[in-house]
Amino acid sequence: MLRLDRVSKRYPQGHTALQGVSLDLAPGSMHFLTGHSGAGKSTLLKLATAMERPSGGRIFFGDEEITRIPRRRIPHLRRAIGTVFQDHKLLYDRTVFDNVALALRVAGFPHRRIRGRVQAALSKVGLEGHQNKAPITLSGGEQQRVAIARALVNKPSLLLADEPTGNLDHKLANEVMNLFHEFHQFGVTVLVATHDLGQPERLGLPQIQLQEGQLAAQ
Ligand code: ADP
Ligand code: ADP
Repeated sequence: MLRLDRVSKRYPQGHTALQGVSLDLAPGSMHFLTGHSGAGKSTLLKLATAMERPSGGRIFFGDEEITRIPRRRIPHLRRAIGTVFQDHKLLYDRTVFDNVALALRVAGFPHRRIRGRVQAALSKVGLEGHQNKAPITLSGGEQQRVAIARALVNKPSLLLADEPTGNLDHKLANEVMNLFHEFHQFGVTVLVATHDLGQPERLGLPQIQLQEGQLAAQ
């Protein structure tokens, strides 16, 4: 599903964030990407969505080589890969519904299908009935669930999350991680970057551990 072949990333200022990282995520698998702050977790996720380009190596999403994808194909790639970040970047001047609908509107979906999909996505994350609210009126955990609904509304086969529970207390963090675990059980491939080692242990899921930009021994 997602394969990295000896990927390196050196930022323009000269800092090497990743070095010789190879991994292969099987379709339907769920992994945690762990490591200290600065280990290269965010960089790996940014390379996988073509937000950054690697300095060396190759990345494949299914049959498509992300590292050679033409610029015009990037929007298509971003619809196939759902992303959730710690800072969820909701639009606060729009309703919950509009936040989730935006990606479908941009993709040119007809009105009727947008409504059905948005409602299905909100119900999956337990936010049915909140669609006309402003995000600011929701709790932190609920806002993060809006971001998850937004990531899922395009029905991605791969879901990447970067510290999605970084701003949440323990109970809400568990709820959000349980939600990712459910999507994994429905067949979505999931990779969650976190420095919270308690989560992979609690859910009994494998870790891919980065240490100063390199894979630690598994
Ligand atoms: P993590 O997500 O594990 O905290 P990052 O991928 O954010 O790690 O960072 C890995 C290393 O790359 C860090 O040393 C960081 O300072 C550096 N880095 C990250 N983004 C940039 C950037 N845009 N420019 C220069 N250096 C960066
Ligand atoms: P649609 O007419 O929107 O294509 P489908 O019957 O194909 O409806 O899907 C029903 C609902 O199942 C969708 O609205 C969507 O929210 C959900 N769904 C399907 N695949 C996924 C997925 N990979 N991740 C999350 N939700 C999904």
